[in-house]
Amino acid sequence: MKNIAILCSGGDVSGMNPALKHFVEYSLQKLLTPFFIYDGYEGLIDNNIKEVAYKDVAGIINRGGTKIGSSRSQRFMEKSYRNIAKKNLDMLNINMLIVLGGDGSFRGLDVFYKEHGVKFCGIPSTIDNDISLTEYCLGVDSALNIIKTSIDSIRDTASSFKRAFVIETMGRDCGFLALVSALTSGAELCLIPEKEYNLKSLEESFKNQIKNGRRYFIAIVAEGIKDDSQTIANWFEQKIGMQARVSVLGHIQRGGNPTIYDRLMAYRFVNNAIDALLEGKKDGVICYTKDGFKYKNIDEVVNTPFVLDPELLKFLKNI
Ligand code: ADP
Repeated sequence: MKNIAILCSGGDVSGMNPALKHFVEYSLQKLLTPFFIYDGYEGLIDNNIKEVAYKDVAGIINRGGTKIGSSRSQRFMEKSYRNIAKKNLDMLNINMLIVLGGDGSFRGLDVFYKEHGVKFCGIPSTIDNDISLTEYCLGVDSALNIIKTSIDSIRDTASSFKRAFVIETMGRDCGFLALVSALTSGAELCLIPEKEYNLKSLEESFKNQIKNGRRYFIAIVAEGIKDDSQTIANWFEQKIGMQARVSVLGHIQRGGNPTIYDRLMAYRFVNNAIDALLEGKKDGVICYTKDGFKYKNIDEVVNTPFVLDPELLKFLKNI
């Protein structure tokens, strides 16, 4: 029997639990012994590693977050702690790792692989959807659905009260969540870091819309834009002449029941990651591309600058 372990690193996403469940099922199916590493790289260093069975993943498929915890680990940046991590894995005979995380987490495992030869396969997991060479990261669809529900609710109150609502989404420096949410919820304005904007140039059109009977505005702004959301709300009040409120969606975007799409993607990512390791792949990431799932070497993933899908970006000019 070969031993394989999984861990979650960096921000959690809804979809990690379905991935953990399928990791156990598919490992056992492939005659591998599955282990959980708790609390990310912290657990790897502290030997918080346990062999698991079906019973350990019962009842988690519908839960957001991650049953095994996640963390950011300053200690894993230091070689001495990575040496301890390697000893812990050796004691349990584990030489294959799957990591659910972002590119920072993959970089960490790449360093570990180059020092100690522990094979790993990354599964892109971040609601920001900002990992190069993959069209999709686990958790994005669940986050978009939470945002959709929030915007739909806010629209009800915005229309009753004649107000502008500035709704701030997560995404760090990436505008994916804001852009897709704006396109799919009929927002009047969308501001993202990838596109320069000039509020002054929008004033006339917004004022005309009010003259023509518009009772409210929905503006979706990404957290990474140059202005803070309150500045955009002030602009609505002072330049457009409509009362405005800010709604920062924050961490609710990361939680909640995983959508069907994320559950299925979790299943498919895990299958592909375990298959890649069994085929002898050593240091890569499973990417979801227009041609389906593809294994990509870690250097290619972390050295390719991320760009937002140009096709989506084109739609932005209308909002
Ligand atoms: P994300 O995976 O969401 O991009 P971070 O960038 O916060 O998250 O990275 C997660 C963790 O990965 C860090 O806390 C650290 O433990 C590890 N890590 C990142 N880069 C390195 C590196 N160059 N060397 C060792 N560990 C790293």
